[in-house]
Amino acid sequence: MSPKPVIGLLGGGQLGRMLCQAAAPLDVEIAILDAENAPAKQVNHNNRNINGSYKDAEKIKELASHCSVLSVETEHVDTTVLEEIATTTKVAVCPSWKTIRLIQDKYEQKAYLASKGIPVAESVAIEGSGDAMLASLKAVSAKFGYPWMLKARKDSYDGRGNMKISGEADLEHAVAEFGKFSCYAEKFVPFQCELSVLVIRTEDDDGQTKRLLPYPAVETVHEDNICSRVYLPPRTTPASACEQAQKVAGDVVDKLWGRGIFAVEMFVTQDNQILVNEIAPRPHNSGHLFIEAVPYMSQYKAQLTSILDQTLPPKIEPYVASSIMINILGGANPDSHLPLVEKAKSMYGDKMAVYVHLYGKESKPSRKIGHITVTGLVASIAELEEFAKPLVDMASDIRQ
Ligand code: ATP
Ligand code: MG
Ligand code: MG
Repeated sequence: MSPKPVIGLLGGGQLGRMLCQAAAPLDVEIAILDAENAPAKQVNHNNRNINGSYKDAEKIKELASHCSVLSVETEHVDTTVLEEIATTTKVAVCPSWKTIRLIQDKYEQKAYLASKGIPVAESVAIEGSGDAMLASLKAVSAKFGYPWMLKARKDSYDGRGNMKISGEADLEHAVAEFGKFSCYAEKFVPFQCELSVLVIRTEDDDGQTKRLLPYPAVETVHEDNICSRVYLPPRTTPASACEQAQKVAGDVVDKLWGRGIFAVEMFVTQDNQILVNEIAPRPHNSGHLFIEAVPYMSQYKAQLTSILDQTLPPKIEPYVASSIMINILGGANPDSHLPLVEKAKSMYGDKMAVYVHLYGKESKPSRKIGHITVTGLVASIAELEEFAKPLVDMASDIRQ
């Protein structure tokens, strides 16, 4: 093993790619387990990368054999092998396999948070398939009223495991579509907006929280269940609700295990109460704008610094007054997004800047293939929104 720490990463998509981009100037080495030419591998050539699936236990063990720390860019990984590595070798698994295992099952995640006094929407497990499932869905409808959310407990992202149940007419369809999954039901939250707070967590040798360092709350906008934009600061949420969101996110991450960065997705109800939606135990789409907004500690640098147990800053403070992140999603044609990219590359404003990030991914409809961050040194979020409007409109048009 080389004396320099090597981080092994399960998954080499855009999050891994941006982690590698943060690691390069710090001379931190990353070894990626994913398919050949995955987005992260395109910017991180070395002889430690492994070609294969990050779900393959043997490949994970091979990766661990030449790393000092293992981390993940997705929670959909095999935690049995991570537990084995953490308990039988000197390789640190960050975050802990316990956190990843808990989070993998969204119903268990919600039940755990509720048991710790964290505010969440009420959830009920759905039993059986076929007629038994239909009976279970009818019972939930009677209990919650319409609408409510049917969610797959595992393996969902970008809303792919979610279905809004708006009336009795949806139930048969729900059984046909979701009968093959283990599911749960969640009360629908008629939120005024969604917030996300990133929190860096470090811990003592005995696993107790050492530091919890929150980022400022950002507003996330989801369309068709996929995050389309992020706003810093949130456009209309009162500062008191944003502070409460930071506090709740800190309470959530305090109850987890391991070092690293965590994102806590939350709903703000009509009366400004915070309800936790879900946790991501890794860098997150809602935190991309901190690459430019907090240049001394992007969420990727925070991930490296915390998992290597190096010195974190006293606080996380934006260097800009406002920022907006716009996801570039694939459109109907492979080049539908190109005019948006060209427009973004051509825009300059008065103390306002536009940054394009493309991920080296093939374009497919609704696939996250890049993002644009807009920052305002002194502009208010409303002024920056006005400046960014052509980009927001073009990004929306691609989705039509
Ligand atoms: P991600 O890509 O964030 O992992 P996911 O597939 O895990 O997404 P969720 O976070 O459960 O999906 O839901 C996606 C979006 O659907 C939420 O951000 C929110 O906009 C909406 N949503 C989810 N649950 C509810 C709810 N209980 N009430 C109202 N809207 C909801
Ligand atoms: Mg999720
Ligand atoms: Mg989510």
